[in-house]
Amino acid sequence: MAFVKGLICKECGRSYPAEALSICEFCFGPLEVDYDYDAITSNISIDSITKGPNSIWRYKDLLPVSGDSPVDLGAGFTPLVKADRLAAELGLGEVWIKNDTLNPTGSFKDRVVSVALTKARELGFKVAACASTGNLAHSVAAHAAKSGMDSCVFIPSDLEQAKVVTTAVYGGTLVAVKGNYDDVNRLCSELTGDRPSWAFVNVNLRPYYAEGSKTLAFEVAEQLGWTTPDHVVVPIASGSQLTKIHKGFEELFKVGLLDENPHVRVSGAQAKGCSPVATAFAENVDNVRPVKPSTIAKSLAIGNPADGFYALQVVRKTNGSIESVTDEEIVQGISLLARTEGIFAETAGGVTIATLVKLAKQGVVRPDEKVVVYITGNGLKTIDPLVSQIGPTVTIAPTIEDFEASVDLGGL
Ligand SMILES: *Cc1c(COP(=O)(O)O)cnc(C)c1O
Ligand SMILES: [Zn+2]
Repeated sequence: MAFVKGLICKECGRSYPAEALSICEFCFGPLEVDYDYDAITSNISIDSITKGPNSIWRYKDLLPVSGDSPVDLGAGFTPLVKADRLAAELGLGEVWIKNDTLNPTGSFKDRVVSVALTKARELGFKVAACASTGNLAHSVAAHAAKSGMDSCVFIPSDLEQAKVVTTAVYGGTLVAVKGNYDDVNRLCSELTGDRPSWAFVNVNLRPYYAEGSKTLAFEVAEQLGWTTPDHVVVPIASGSQLTKIHKGFEELFKVGLLDENPHVRVSGAQAKGCSPVATAFAENVDNVRPVKPSTIAKSLAIGNPADGFYALQVVRKTNGSIESVTDEEIVQGISLLARTEGIFAETAGGVTIATLVKLAKQGVVRPDEKVVVYITGNGLKTIDPLVSQIGPTVTIAPTIEDFEASVDLGGL
């Protein structure tokens, strides 16, 4: 049983029933799930969580659906890896990587989709749909296949080949739209109204969808022995994930699972070619001005981020920062993480690592802090921007002579 009272407008506080609604009809503010925290507090315990499944569903009491028979491919419960070699290279102390490349479809989107499609099924929707920068489409198509729902997912037509193939393979309908994500999203918002049996996970089911990202905070706290990090670095596309990670840490305290009120600094990472939130942060304004994206970090290429304003607020309130990095720095970030920790991240991960590098240099991320870096997508999905730069060290004839003439590992 879910401890949901309903939905509540983040701006004016009006209440709504727990249906497929996402925007307040009075003030156009976004709707959020409203929980009965007293009931959760008397129900939840570290013991009840650790007895649960090895997936996001161990935190079902803090999710907006009944977790008894979820739409589930096993999202979550990903490793938190101590990154000592990376930390040493950056002159930092305690750095951890939350390795969400290891989700069923290779990105953190499995967390939000598992929650959203469970809600979609509960509400009787027939078609699973979404507006996607790539990873969301992949995850929706896979979860829909598993649950037997039809799917119709929308992507910009210029995505990486791997993202197109890994989405199409599940046999649903994949619509490539000649435009960028913001065009795709607008189209999906227009389609939603006339299609009452379609669940657009990040449009009409957005309040439920977004809650799935809280599990990124829950798992980290559990993996750190029910404590919180001092500082987290999170990539920003729509800004939803960043705000929900912050909310996740606060909720754990609210329901009695943390001894101390957490003070987690939250910093954000964007690509220079799509950095509306970083720009608003740098200019110290509240208004996130939309941009036209142009970056290899296509999974983060949202020019008009729905939760940009709220992400800014979280970063400012927690004394974090937001940086943006060039395409070249993104590739260097991917290489740095691969070479020091053996983790191959997609371009979004390159953005996050390159931002960590910058924030460490600036002294914003400090050596005395316990830092968690969220690596949200798998590198096998975005090899396109790397193939011209990364390949064999040498190509040789199959002879010892050619090998010895070409390869020298410094006398080893
Ligand atoms: C979607 C996505 C994000 C950002 O998600 P938002 O919640 O929209 O900010 C980060 N990393 C990857 C790999 C993604 O696919
Ligand atoms: Zn409102």
